[in-house]
Amino acid sequence: MAVETKKETLGFQTEVKHLMHLMIHSLYSNKEIFLRELISNASDAADKLRYKALSNDSLYDGDSQLKIRVDFDKDARTITVSDNGIGMTRDEVQEHIGTIAKSGTKQFFEKLTGDEAKDSELIGQFGVGFYSTFIVADKVTLTTRKADVKADEAVCWESAGEGDYTLESVEKATRGTEVVLHLKETEDEFLESYRLQTIIKKFSDHISLPIIMDKEIPAETDEEGKETAPSRIEDDVVNSASALWTRSKDDISAEEYNEFYKHVGHDYQEPLAHIHSRVEGNTEYSLLLYLPSHAPFDLWDRDAKQGVKLYIRKVFITDDAEQLMPRYLRFVRGIIDTDSLPLNVSREILQQSKKISTIKGGAVKKVLALLNTLANDEDHSKYSSFWKEFGNVIKEGVIEDHKNKDKVAKLLRFSSTHSDAEAQNVALADYVSRMKDDQEHIYYVTADSHAAAKNSPHLEIFRKKGIEVLLMSDRVDEWLLSNLTEFEGKHLQSVAKGELDLNKLDSEDDKKEQEKADKDFESVIKQMKEVLGDKVSEVRLSHRLTDSPACLVTGAHDMSLNMERIMKEAGQDLSMMGMGGAKPIFEINPDHVLVANVKAEQDDDRFADITQILFDQSILSEGGQLENPTEFVHKLNGLLQGLLK
Ligand code: ADP
Repeated sequence: MAVETKKETLGFQTEVKHLMHLMIHSLYSNKEIFLRELISNASDAADKLRYKALSNDSLYDGDSQLKIRVDFDKDARTITVSDNGIGMTRDEVQEHIGTIAKSGTKQFFEKLTGDEAKDSELIGQFGVGFYSTFIVADKVTLTTRKADVKADEAVCWESAGEGDYTLESVEKATRGTEVVLHLKETEDEFLESYRLQTIIKKFSDHISLPIIMDKEIPAETDEEGKETAPSRIEDDVVNSASALWTRSKDDISAEEYNEFYKHVGHDYQEPLAHIHSRVEGNTEYSLLLYLPSHAPFDLWDRDAKQGVKLYIRKVFITDDAEQLMPRYLRFVRGIIDTDSLPLNVSREILQQSKKISTIKGGAVKKVLALLNTLANDEDHSKYSSFWKEFGNVIKEGVIEDHKNKDKVAKLLRFSSTHSDAEAQNVALADYVSRMKDDQEHIYYVTADSHAAAKNSPHLEIFRKKGIEVLLMSDRVDEWLLSNLTEFEGKHLQSVAKGELDLNKLDSEDDKKEQEKADKDFESVIKQMKEVLGDKVSEVRLSHRLTDSPACLVTGAHDMSLNMERIMKEAGQDLSMMGMGGAKPIFEINPDHVLVANVKAEQDDDRFADITQILFDQSILSEGGQLENPTEFVHKLNGLLQGLLK
């Protein structure tokens, strides 16, 4: 006999132990969800079998009536959920029930703090699944037989949820999976038919397979009380057993929509919004798509699965159809069911299918329309919370989805000098509606934090003139801005790039003053350029500062200093790419007392020191790093000592 038939004891992956512990503590008040999770898994297993059987009918082995059974035994104090779905092999059991094989799991667990209240919230990003059984059970036995293997090649998994589990090869007469929960002493409330039926109706009514429980038909008696037929047990289908999306919208309650989301989205929290519609025409399909209320833990993981399942005529085909949603809408969950593709469609055909791209185009349009409705709703709270969770993903859309760029641009929200909150809540259209009469551009500043953006010296002149500036501090913003140069005919202009063309907004007096200053400072500027050498491409008088003595500016077509920093941090060699490395322009503020003092400085060494300090300060206020911080400190201390003498 193979070694594998022996019973072996294996340890749970550390993460699983951690997850179970957290789950039991944080979800106890919601403990009945274990049944939903088991039924959801059973339904997925049936979907998988049905799909495989399309190309290999023998997998049904004479039993093509897929169903789920829920039984209980008051004496043994057990609940059993069984299915005749695809089943699992020994390796699959080990991989799926005992380890969490999802990508990004490790990073997720690193985020846990040890503070139970906080961590409980994080659990919501993960999806609870099979392990939720340990909320009510102190022992769980899972027996499973894969669809194409023999009866004696089944496997039994068992665990008390504490650190380890056993695996044993066993016999199982039928295909599929059976999960037996040995209830904790405190959980006897579940050993009751009515209670279980209520839970199933509440959570799993939308499941398209019949969920069956035993129903006791009492004995029949005649008028004299003589038994004419003995009592018997019949199968009772507890749920509606029709695919939810095929029903009419009017017949589906909000709860049913929400429960279906929890099943397809593997999420136990309520969704934020949904769209349910049917498209007729050359390519016909129904879609039921949801926006989650919270970002999943693997939102930034490039290997994470997409969340939209493809069905063809109610048969599940794949949950890995990247071609159904673009990357920037990867958080969308739900199903698309089409009548217009053949059931035996292969992966390759799917990838090249024109119909699939038509469906994708239509689905994206619907999602963007839903987002647009939320964004323009009088009640901003939903869209704000959506933006907080997914805003940075939506920004990718401007870059990725050329066709819908304008629509995506309308969905963007930013922080701004005209809104108190750090929250990103200003739309480009709001900005445009507030533009000054003579203002031509949409102004923005980029920095590596909100505080740095908000306090950037580049904003000074804009504050003085009351011109709004958008504050951008997310990494993706730099890429966004290199792809979004215009909105409604208005150019997006960095306040830290090129000459500021605020001329139209300047008064005649301002202009005269500027001309005079340019003359007065001619020699100072020359001397400063000599001091700074090739660290700068130019020294000039600033028309953008009011409070700061100096700042750095990049050329109109150069990469921003923030972008250069991001690229360098990402390990990109900019010189190799023929980018970056353009020298900044050093601008000084003629109205600043420090600058006036340098102008009056007779001692060349002191002139050079102060110039160097002003230059270094400008780098620091950009959020940059000094090449030689010690020298900066040394020079600054020298000046301070001079003051104390
Ligand atoms: P999730 O369902 O979110 O993937 P679970 O912990 O509930 O997480 O299940 C893990 C995996 O175990 C499933 O993805 C599936 O591959 C497998 N599995 C669970 N229950 C069954 C079942 N009844 N039949 C077949 N496979 C199952």
